[in-house]
This record gives sequence, C-alpha cells and structure tokens, in this order.
Amino acid sequence: MTTQADIEIVGAGPAGLTCAIILAKAGRRVTVREWRRDVGHRFHDDFQGLENWTARQDVLAELAEAGITADFAHHGVRKGIVFDSRARPHPVQGKRPLFYLLRRGNADGTLDRALLDQARAAGAKVRFNDHVETAAGNMVLAGGPRRADIIAVGQVFDTDMADGAWLAVNDALAPKGYAYLLVHAGRGTVASCLFTGFHDQAKYLAATVEFFQRHAGLEIENPRPFGGFGNVRLARTAMQGGYPVVGEHAGFQDALAGFGLRYAIRSGTLAAHSLLGGTDYTRAWREQLLPGLRAGVVNRFMFNTTGARAKDYLIGRVGEGDTAPALARTYGLSLPKRLMFPLARLRYRAPLKDPSCNHLNCDCVWCQHGTHTITKT
Ligand SMILES: Cc1cc2nc3c(=O)[nH]c(=O)nc-3n(C[C@H](O)[C@H](O)[C@H](O)COP(=O)(O)OP(=O)(O)OC[C@H]3O[C@@H](n4cnc5c(N)ncnc54)[C@H](O)[C@@H]3O)c2cc1C
Repeated sequence: MTTQADIEIVGAGPAGLTCAIILAKAGRRVTVREWRRDVGHRFHDDFQGLENWTARQDVLAELAEAGITADFAHHGVRKGIVFDSRARPHPVQGKRPLFYLLRRGNADGTLDRALLDQARAAGAKVRFNDHVETAAGNMVLAGGPRRADIIAVGQVFDTDMADGAWLAVNDALAPKGYAYLLVHAGRGTVASCLFTGFHDQAKYLAATVEFFQRHAGLEIENPRPFGGFGNVRLARTAMQGGYPVVGEHAGFQDALAGFGLRYAIRSGTLAAHSLLGGTDYTRAWREQLLPGLRAGVVNRFMFNTTGARAKDYLIGRVGEGDTAPALARTYGLSLPKRLMFPLARLRYRAPLKDPSCNHLNCDCVWCQHGTHTITKT
C-alpha cells in the first residue's frame, strides 16, 4: 500500500469507524462501506458496557489517546450486584468505574451514531446500502460476527426504577452464560445471554424477567423486545487475503462473557496505526490482544467445567474489596493460565474453530472456507 492510497473499510461498526476516524484525521482518504442503511442495525438502543478493568488506563483515556471523543451518552458504573446460583446477592464495587454504560443502535447519543459523526467530521466518506462481497484494493475488513455462538435475548424498556446494574450467574436463567439488568435515567435493558440452549430462549428470558422482578424490583413499562448474537473464536490470523481484519470479524471477543467493544476499538486503532506507520499489524495484535483473548478462552473453559458451588464461592470472592483489580487478575494471562491454555483450547475447540484463512489470494470478505494453506504471518 502506498502511503497516500485511498482506503476502504468494510463495515461501519465500532472497529471500522475507529479505524476510519484515525486514518481520516491523519489526512488519508477513507471510505467506509456499510451493508445496512444506517449504523447500529444489529442493536436496539440497548445498554452495553464498555469494560474498564483489563488495563490500568481508563478506557475513556484510551479512546482520547486514539483520537476518539467520548461524546456519546455514557455513565460510569462503580457498583452493582451479582447474584450467585442460589440467588444470593453479592455487592461489587470499584474505586473507578468498573464499566461505562452506553447505548448501541442508530439513535442520537448511541456509540454508533457518535462514531459515525466523528468519522464524517474527520473527512471519511460513509456509503450505506453497500454490501461488499469481494475484497480488492486497499481494504480493512470490519464486518462483525460471522456466526452465532452466543445469543442475547431481552427487552429494552422505560422504568421509574432507580439506576443500577445487576448480573445473575444461574443456568436456569442463562445456561453457561449470565442474565443482566441495567437501568439508567429511566431506561432499562434486561437480557439473558445464552451460550447454549438457544431453542429455549423465550423460556430463559421469561425466567430472567421474573427473577429480576423478584430480586431487584424490576419494573418494566413500554417493553420492546431485542436480540443479538456474537461470535466466539480464537483468531489464528487477523490478515485475510493480505487485508487487516479488525473487531469481531477477526474473532476479537472475550470468550468468557462476550465483551467485544474494547477489542473492536483497540484493533481498529492498531490497524490504522499499522497503515499509517507501515508497522506490522499481526505483530501488534498478537502482542496487545492475544494474551487477553487466550485468558478469555481459559476463563470460559474453567467456567464450563466448574460446578455451581465453586462458581458461587468465586463470585463471593470477587465482591470482597475493590472489584476492578480482581477482574483484572481474572482477565490476565497468569502462568497457571498459560499452562492451562492448551487444554482449554483443545476442550473448547469446536466453538473456537476459525474458518478464515490468510492466503494472499483470498478475496472473500466473509471467508468461511478455511481451505487455503495457512501461511505463516
Ligand atoms: C446483545 C449484545 C450485547 C452486547 N453487549 C456487549 C457489552 O456489554 N460489552 C461489550 O464489550 N460487547 C458487547 N457485545 C459485543 C459487541 O457489541 C461487539 O463485539 C461489537 O459491536 C463488535 O464491533 P465490530 O465493529 O467488530 O462489529 P459490528 O458492530 O457488528 O459492525 C460490523 C458492521 O459491518 C457491517 N458489514 C458486515 N458485513 C459487511 C459487508 N460484507 N459489506 C459491508 N458491510 C458489512 C455490518 O452491517 C455491521 O454494521 C454485545 C453484543 C450483543 C449482540
């Protein structure tokens, strides 16, 4: 790629738009090509959490450093309640926000709308209703998940409830997953996040609503159903056909809980810097993202193989003291986790299968064949 070549980015999600903002601010000509007619079509004005525990640096400072303004509606959440399998509440709290609550979709104030506006203000063009099927020229692939390994089913609603954040780790509400309730300023999101048992999603959502009504005083007005899916796999490559792949398209997602936002923003940033500075994107994501992704796989393996009692004990421990350092340790790739990783990957191989290839002649945007020879990158 010559230094002044035009760049096309496939997908106007957080990963693609972050990459576009950085490139456009550096003076590059950028076009973002988005399949749908607006940003955020996968989302429904539902609350999501931008986690703030995997790095010492506050995630908003990280955004600022990358050149992204936090001009989307957001709210730092410092405390919450985690229910264990026996519905016992464990308060959790952080000295700094544990996560930032934000909204996803295409409405004003959502993360997606704010990033779109910033990309345009920086000079990037954004083309909607543009379904890219073949990769060509200078592209960054940021097309989001390729298949559903996790689904979330829930409701967004209005409420008079006080603000709060609640999580329940209970197979009767969300098998191998978790249920959550987030309320802020008269809006709420309640959902069951399932890692299995997808066919019974209606049953799990009903159980989740009933659970939070009983244990958190959930009050729902004007409910609107929503659902979504995520893809969990351990990227073996984030170069496909010679193109950098970012965000969930590359499989950058926490395998334990499905947090993908910070990975999307970080990988979009790394790809942009590699294009600007001629640095090696593969080396950068392996250094900066792979340890966390691996820790996520080990965490998921431990979560799947640990009984309810042991999980209850661990939930109790996380609630002792400041929760942020405890979560940081959980998400770090410690020596025991390094040793456990090969077993975790083996046991968790099926859902982690990465069907992409990094063959230089691959021009499929959604590479699913995986039949090309893997070249070492
Ligand atoms: C219900 C739900 C709740 C979640 N909650 C959280 C949370 O609390 N915290 C968190 O960190 N993460 C959460 N996640 C995950 C997070 O939303 C994703 O990891 C994140 O959106 C990934 O961003 P992305 O830019 O990689 O992909 P996306 O946001 O999916 O954007 C990809 C874009 O590419 C477009 N596209 C795809 N293919 C093409 C093509 N061929 N041509 C043109 N355009 C194309 C799509 O239309 C889409 O707009 C949640 C996910 C779901 C579904």
